[in-house]
Amino acid sequence: MPKYEFFRTVNENFDRASAFLDVEKGLLDQIKSCSSTYHVTFPLRRDDGSVEVIHGWRSVHSSHKSPAKGGTRYAMTVNEDEINALAALMTYKCSVVSIPFGGAKGGVRIDRERYSRGELERITRRYTFELIKKNFMGPGVDVPAPDYGTGEQEMAWMLDTYRSMVDSLDSEGCVTGKPTHQGGLAGRAEATGRGVFFGLREACSVKEDMDMLGLSTGLDGKRVIVQGLGKVGYHAASFLRESGAFITGVAELGGGIYDEKGIDVALLKEHIKETGSIRGFTFGKFIDRADELLEMECDILVPAALENQITEKNAHRIKAKIIGEAANGPLSGEGHAIIKNRPSLIIPDIYLNAGGVTASYFEWVKNLSHIRFGRMGRRYEENSTSRLIAAIEERIGAKFETGEIEDIAKGPQEKDIVDSGLEETMTTAYQLLCDERSRYNTDLRTAAYISAIRKVALSYEQLGIFP
Ligand code: GLU
Repeated sequence: MPKYEFFRTVNENFDRASAFLDVEKGLLDQIKSCSSTYHVTFPLRRDDGSVEVIHGWRSVHSSHKSPAKGGTRYAMTVNEDEINALAALMTYKCSVVSIPFGGAKGGVRIDRERYSRGELERITRRYTFELIKKNFMGPGVDVPAPDYGTGEQEMAWMLDTYRSMVDSLDSEGCVTGKPTHQGGLAGRAEATGRGVFFGLREACSVKEDMDMLGLSTGLDGKRVIVQGLGKVGYHAASFLRESGAFITGVAELGGGIYDEKGIDVALLKEHIKETGSIRGFTFGKFIDRADELLEMECDILVPAALENQITEKNAHRIKAKIIGEAANGPLSGEGHAIIKNRPSLIIPDIYLNAGGVTASYFEWVKNLSHIRFGRMGRRYEENSTSRLIAAIEERIGAKFETGEIEDIAKGPQEKDIVDSGLEETMTTAYQLLCDERSRYNTDLRTAAYISAIRKVALSYEQLGIFP
C-alpha cells in the first residue's frame, strides 16, 4: 500500500492553483513550505506509576500575518507530516475567509480514551509548557485552539499553564475555544458546524450548480449522510436538519445508522453518550461497517472526521452529488480526481470548515479588547428601537402586541453577533469562490487555493522579504 502523504496532497492542490497565477516560483516555494516545526518528547508518569514517553508537535506554516493560528489534535494519526499539512491548510483557510492570521497546527500522538482525566491534564500542561519555553505560543505569536480529540477543558488547562508562566495583560488571548467563563466565546463550540451549514446553504442556493446535479435549490428535503458525530458533524447535522434536510445516515466509530425518514441526531448523540457506542439505537437500520455509509445513496455527504477517508479505493462507489468537506483533507488527491469525473460538487475544506477559526478570531479580538461583544451597545439598541416603535404606533394610531415589541426591539447578545459575523464571512467567501471558479473555469477547490495564494503572495510582496 502506498504511504499516504498528507502534506504532498496539500501541495499538489497548491501547485494546480498556482499555475493559474502570475507569482514568481521562489515566492510560491516560500509560501508552500512550513516556517518551523517543533517535535517534543516528554515523560508522563501514568496513574499506575509507570513512565511513558509522549510525542507532540507544533508547526507554524506561515507567519505572513501574526499570530499564527490553528488547533491542537489528540489522535494516534498525529505525526510530523500530518501536522505540517494541517498547518498549511490553516494558512490557506484563514486567507480564503480573510482572517488576519498565519497558519499553524499542533498535535499529541495519544489515544485519549486510554488516559485518565488527571493524565490528560498532565499531558496538556506539559505540552503547553514545552511550547511556551520555545516561544511557540502567545497571543501575538501562535494561538492554539481545539481540534480532533480536544475541547474546552484542554484549552482551559493551556490557558492556566500559560498564565502561570507569563505575566501579561493579554494572556487570555493565548488560546481560543476556551470555556465561556474563562474568556471563551458564546457560540464557539458550534461554530465550525454552523459554518458548514452556512456553506452548504450557500452552495445549494446556486441554481446552475443544482441544475447540473439534477437537484432543486435549497436545503429542504436534501438527504444528508454525515461521517463523525463529534462537535463538527453533530452541529452541522443539527443545523441542516433544522433547515429541512433529512439526516439519512450517520457513520461513527464502530458502525452507522441509516434511516430514510431522517435521524434525530440529538437523540442519537444522547444514546452514544449514555452507552458509549452507536450500537443499540432503536431507530433506523444499524450498519456494521461504518465506511459502507459513505457509499450509500444521498444528496450531500459530509465527512466530518479525519483526513484521507475518500480515496482511490472507495471514490468510484460514492454516490453523493455534493461532498461537503467538514473535516480537514477528507478526500485524497486521487479520490478527488475520481469524483470530479462525474457531475458532482466538492466544497473544499479550506472554505467549508473555516467557521471554527473565524469564531476563534472573534474570541481572540474579544480577549484583547477585554470586553464581551454586545456589552456596550445592546441596551442602547433596544431602547432606540423601542422609541422608534412607539413613534410608529403614534403615527399610525395602532398598537403592537407586547411580545411582538420585545421581539422586534431585542438587542443582540454575544451569540447573535458571533452568528451574524459567521454568516457574513461564510456567505461572502462563497461568492468569492464562485467568482474565481468562473474566472478560471475550474473547480471550487482550485478556486479556493487561487484566492488564498493570491492574498498570501500579495502580503509577502507588499511587506517585502526580510533579508
Ligand atoms: N481546529 C480548527 C480548524 O482546523 C480551528 C482552529 C482555530 O480555531 O484556530 O480549523
